[in-house]
Amino acid sequence: MKKQDKSSKKNAILTCSFCGRNYSQVPIVPGNDGNICVDCAKKVNEIIDDASGQLRERSKRLPPTPSAKEIKEFLDRYVIGHDDVKKVLSVAVHNHYRRLEAKEEKSDFNKNPAAIIDEDDVEIEKSNILLIGPTGTGKTLMAKALAKILGVPFAIGDATVLTEAGYVGEDVENLVRYLIQNANGDVNLAKRGIIYVDEIDKIASKTDNVSITRDVSGEGVQQALLKILEGTICRIPPKGGRKHPDQEYIEIDTSNILFICAGAFVGLDKIVGARSGRRAIGFGSSSEESAVPKNAVAKDDSAPLDVRPEDLVKFGLIPEFTGRLPVITVMKELDEDQLVKVLCEPKNALVKQYRKLLAMDGVELEFTPEALRALAKGAIARKTGARGLRAEMEKLMIDVMYDASNAKVGSKVIVTEEMVKEKCGVG
Ligand code: ADP
Repeated sequence: MKKQDKSSKKNAILTCSFCGRNYSQVPIVPGNDGNICVDCAKKVNEIIDDASGQLRERSKRLPPTPSAKEIKEFLDRYVIGHDDVKKVLSVAVHNHYRRLEAKEEKSDFNKNPAAIIDEDDVEIEKSNILLIGPTGTGKTLMAKALAKILGVPFAIGDATVLTEAGYVGEDVENLVRYLIQNANGDVNLAKRGIIYVDEIDKIASKTDNVSITRDVSGEGVQQALLKILEGTICRIPPKGGRKHPDQEYIEIDTSNILFICAGAFVGLDKIVGARSGRRAIGFGSSSEESAVPKNAVAKDDSAPLDVRPEDLVKFGLIPEFTGRLPVITVMKELDEDQLVKVLCEPKNALVKQYRKLLAMDGVELEFTPEALRALAKGAIARKTGARGLRAEMEKLMIDVMYDASNAKVGSKVIVTEEMVKEKCGVG
């Protein structure tokens, strides 16, 4: 009896640290530094559920998908030329993200991420993209610009360093890990990001084309990539490195990640030519391999090369892999006029950047049209495309900027063709 009195006395002074009621009014859970009654505990639970639900929703929700026309107009601001390719990509990418939006509207996101099945059973499959074209034509730039306008995370990988899981080298799954990193760890955002895989032509397995050096092991990497391209659950070690059994993993479904694979595919034009009877008009075909005159580089006004999946299989991609890249586009080498535009027109054009730099010293910078042409000609001669322009410009501008930093405010520097020839050699 004495014992019972003692415990009821203790319970009587037990009060909820949140609402102040005591044990005689409501059941209370005692803690070390405070107590909580069951009513307050319920409320706390509701608040936590609400907050994490809101967070989940916020990262799941997509920004509204721009129209194909809006996407194309955005690409025009950054990428010179490739009009037809931009159109194809704008439509493909618009459809991809509309498909995700529709899925979200059906709020069926987690049940069947691989495809939307309507009442009429129409299944819209995702359209990964293959960009074929020589170096420095703007393939990477195009993919980056797409990610930018869509506001989705973006990751770049190089197919030549990828291996099948378990081999020395980079696991294919690392591509997905980079994407999660670039989404600041937000897995829901990463699920709808874009992964750009460069040099995809280098994992071709077998081919008649002598310029391909990779042996049959390329097929294993294609198989590994195939899985994440078509959609699988990847288990990613958060900090990278090898997997081991006790590790915690981030799970991510890759079904809605848009893959853009790119490569130069040197010699593919010969394969297409042999099939179609069309003369090879090289994109990057080396002169000794193809009996194509050097000056026969395709211009924007010529018909685009009609690459079909069977050509890619002949080149060395396995049929299942090409089957997962239904949007095939061909980007041609930039010609002289286009390279001059690359120097002057895009949002962050090199000429604009240098003008701004010199303007900070109060010096005006001008390039003669001949100087710009000489720079463009140099890039064509070196076969670097637009990629080489920055290095050449840097060589050219070192002396100009050195002098400009000491020049009188309000003075003007004119870069001439002679200066380009002297600093850059060709042109
Ligand atoms: P690729 O991936 O085809 O090898 P990149 O996209 O990496 O070429 O191009 C390298 C750089 O050259 C870009 O960052 C950009 O500055 C410039 N560039 C290339 N192509 C274009 C283009 N079509 N329009 C504007 N700039 C371009």
